Amino acid sequence: MDMKEKKKIAILGATGSIGTQALQVIEEHSDLYEAYVLTANNRVELLAEQARRFLPEAVVIANKDKYGYLRDALADLPIKVYAGADALCQIVQEKPVDMVLTAMVGFAGLQPTISAIKAGKAIALANKETLVVAGELVNRLANDYHADIVPVDSEHSAIFQCLAGEVSPIEKIILTASGGPFRTFSREQLAQVTKAQALHHPNWSMGAKITIDSASMMNKGFEVIEAKWLFGVEPEQIQVVVHPQSIVHSAVQFADGAVKAQLGVPDMRVPIQYAFSYPLRLKSSFERLDLFKSSTLTFEEPDTKRFRNLALAYEALHKGGNMPCIVNAANEVVNRAFLEDRIGFLQMSDVIADTMQKATFIACPTYEDYLQTDAEARRIAAGHLPDTV
Ligand code: NAD
Ligand code: MG
Repeated sequence: MDMKEKKKIAILGATGSIGTQALQVIEEHSDLYEAYVLTANNRVELLAEQARRFLPEAVVIANKDKYGYLRDALADLPIKVYAGADALCQIVQEKPVDMVLTAMVGFAGLQPTISAIKAGKAIALANKETLVVAGELVNRLANDYHADIVPVDSEHSAIFQCLAGEVSPIEKIILTASGGPFRTFSREQLAQVTKAQALHHPNWSMGAKITIDSASMMNKGFEVIEAKWLFGVEPEQIQVVVHPQSIVHSAVQFADGAVKAQLGVPDMRVPIQYAFSYPLRLKSSFERLDLFKSSTLTFEEPDTKRFRNLALAYEALHKGGNMPCIVNAANEVVNRAFLEDRIGFLQMSDVIADTMQKATFIACPTYEDYLQTDAEARRIAAGHLPDTV
């Protein structure tokens, strides 16, 4: 392929778990892909290192306090250096950018994703919070501005792969969940778990926030909401199935009863690479699935009594409007508080449920409503943290 035809990718959150794995994919296929923009929030040393290695057109550090360091660290290179949240939104709109990988974490992903969509950029969507918070708005904009959204989340990539070539509607999505490190814990045990235990996921190595969300199963709740907006199904058509081995990444059932699943060893580079190469598949050296080594695949019903977050997410999805945005904001607050040892594991769901009760409900939110809802729900949730009441 000609140099000029390389796909130019902007990576939002290059220093994170998804971002660094995306850079591995780009490195492995440097004939096809180019890291055109790299961004990070705080980890300025790593961002500078990555920039030196991948020589992007521009880098953005969201935290403006780190701008000076980054500029000086890259002073000898022809790389543009910017800082701040607004710069993130501008850089994704640059003409040469072909695809934006949204690999930053949390609500902060919404604004730059919308900005990229408005410039008609293809989105490789890792930041699921964007669809949790504002799925309806994001879908409408993606439609209006002809921006394709390709999922990176492993379950949604699996579903997306199962749908390739299909023209008939989905009957049911089977969304698999590992169940996390506390799958077999009683409520009494869950009341005692520590952040160190929660940070130790059995199958995946991920950023801290999503690892806690996986342990609490809020991650799966969010993935149900994400699936609704990506694949246009009703909540009743999404069945969460606990599959501790994380080999079946998800499945789709069709009208004739046929079920297609996508399998593989857990490795996020597979869905990241597929999002970049879709509809093609590229050669990779990633570990192959050996069914003789993974000969036991088991499936269980999720327990929404022990993992109440899953029930809260379904409730928010049914309620619609800004309710998922409220849940996301409250979850960001309790997730952080749990990581700071300020709240117990089970209390996280209590604070989220309280916030759902108290925050102002808006049935048809605008973009500005989402910003206000996010701020209001964070305030309410923060007020419910044990050491602040
Ligand atoms: P991470 O914490 O490892 O990395 C987050 C990245 O985002 C970092 O580069 C950080 O600098 C940047 N960032 C954080 N806050 C920011 C802000 N306010 N503004 C700009 N940049 C900011 O997280 P991760 O595990 O890579 O997850 C990233 C996203 O991908 C999340 O939405 C997560 O739910 C989703 N995801 C991750 C995985 C995984 O395997 N890690 C799997 C599926 C989905
Ligand atoms: Mg997932």
